[in-house]
Amino acid sequence: MTILAHEDYEADQTFETDVVIVGTGAGGGAAGATLAEAGYRVMFIEEGGYHPTSSFSAYTTESVPRLYRDASATMIVGRAPIPYVEGRCVGGSTVINGGMAYRPPERVLADWERITGSAELGVEGLDAAFSEVERRISANFQSELSIGEDSRIMEAGAKKMGWHYTTNRRNQSACVGANNCSLGCPTGAKQSTLVTYLPRAFERGAVCLTEVRVEKLLIEGGRAVGVVGRAINPRTRRADRTVRVRARAVIIACGAVQTPLLLARHGLGKPSGQLGKNFLCHPNAKVLAVYPQKVDGWKGVSQNTQIREFHEDGILMAENFVAPGVLAAYLPFHGERAWELMSRYENMVLSGVLVEDSSSGSVSRTLLGMPLVRYELTALDHQRFKRGVKLLAQMHFELGAERVILPFTNQHEALGPDDLERIDTLQTDVNTLELFTVHLMGTARMGARREGSVVNLNGELWDLPGCYVADASLFPTAIGVNPQVTIMALATRVAERLQLHAKAA
Ligand SMILES: Cc1cc2nc3c(=O)[nH]c(=O)nc-3n(C[C@H](O)[C@H](O)[C@H](O)COP(=O)(O)OP(=O)(O)OC[C@H]3O[C@@H](n4cnc5c(N)ncnc54)[C@H](O)[C@@H]3O)c2cc1C
Ligand code: SF4
Repeated sequence: MTILAHEDYEADQTFETDVVIVGTGAGGGAAGATLAEAGYRVMFIEEGGYHPTSSFSAYTTESVPRLYRDASATMIVGRAPIPYVEGRCVGGSTVINGGMAYRPPERVLADWERITGSAELGVEGLDAAFSEVERRISANFQSELSIGEDSRIMEAGAKKMGWHYTTNRRNQSACVGANNCSLGCPTGAKQSTLVTYLPRAFERGAVCLTEVRVEKLLIEGGRAVGVVGRAINPRTRRADRTVRVRARAVIIACGAVQTPLLLARHGLGKPSGQLGKNFLCHPNAKVLAVYPQKVDGWKGVSQNTQIREFHEDGILMAENFVAPGVLAAYLPFHGERAWELMSRYENMVLSGVLVEDSSSGSVSRTLLGMPLVRYELTALDHQRFKRGVKLLAQMHFELGAERVILPFTNQHEALGPDDLERIDTLQTDVNTLELFTVHLMGTARMGARREGSVVNLNGELWDLPGCYVADASLFPTAIGVNPQVTIMALATRVAERLQLHAKAA
């Protein structure tokens, strides 16, 4: 059997394999399929459950606790607190993501080449890996009929303002524009790892132990030889069985918050002191416009357009329509005002401003073993948010929006362009910003020198042979665009390096 769950494990069970991979998201999925196809015995371990395409629904209260870590109640601490979300299910965050499939800008890869001193992480060095990922996840443009009116409004806005914009490539095959991406694609069109890399790995004999949370590495003779986890009863969420996997190599792909948490348990990352540092998150602010006409933003794919006019200044703009329950939870209003606003759901365009981090935060382990994620916004990024929000709201007013809901605790609404002038005087402190994020990166950075990085250019920990990282933690810097393609490319590279290593040994 390929996919095991809580009820399948004995009280204390040990498995054996060639490579054990913790996490089945963008990084884990890509690394696992690469290794399985190369003939290795691969065993995935995933904390979340297996939820096939047929189980996905548009019901927020049912889907969020099933697919999201801690039912999405996760928070980055700072003067402007930032709620973040990540997937916890087979397929990880790729199951709930928006499907944008971008390579990083060339300037970012040029930076990576400079920082790491290796052309392998530069534009040309990573080109083949990017192409392979794009092929595997079918990164391509949407069919005309699947594009939503909210995307068309963003495009019309960019044209009206004379701004440069791009049409998004998404990892989809025959997307019908059901716009349920964040609760799991019910048609299987979105090419998450659940329907791409993982089935390929299973086809080659890989096994997935689901509902197991890995808590420790097995280390013998100074080398990683496996992991130890606890099976979690999906009904009670209690850990009640011990599951061990012994392997020739261990790959950690738990995402940029959970990976450093696991490694920190063993005091790893000492040579550089960089484990858990360099936490990057592309903070986002929502700008919700209400139009007089019907938009029906739930029909047709969201985020077909990305406004790139201010990208060199670290600002991206896009639309991102969400289910009514999710939207209502984020509204700054209660009671009658919230009801009145939600009754205009069909007239809304939910757009946002994404800022490329100019600083970084940290992830550490609290005494209770939980992650403490800290991040402070810089004055530059605060400035970028004020500018981006103002410009985006102006664009909506130019197109005829009646009102725009703003992401500031002391200024929630603009009824016309004049109201936007107050942003400069009212927004003097970052703590009035309402942010959120879905891009978590950078906490086990890759590098060529042990003094400045947690893993080497093969993805192997400097201070624990046999233990590799293959997820968003590897990023040396923020990339300023949606990260899944880059994560998959780096994870593919790590898997290839591991094979070379194994052959040489
Ligand atoms: C709502 C949302 C929208 C997004 N939209 C886009 C988009 O449009 N385009 C894009 O490029 N990116 C997008 N992203 C980001 C992208 O999906 C993530 O950056 C990417 O999936 C991260 O890959 P990863 O391998 O680092 O971690 P994940 O994909 O999060 O996978 C980590 C996996 O490890 C498991 N795990 C963690 N700890 C343990 C443990 N101790 N034991 C066992 N298992 C464990 C988790 O349950 C999870 O399944 C979005 C993300 C979200 C949440
Ligand atoms: S828009 Fe609908 S069909 Fe297309 S990828 Fe998203 S959920 Fe799937």
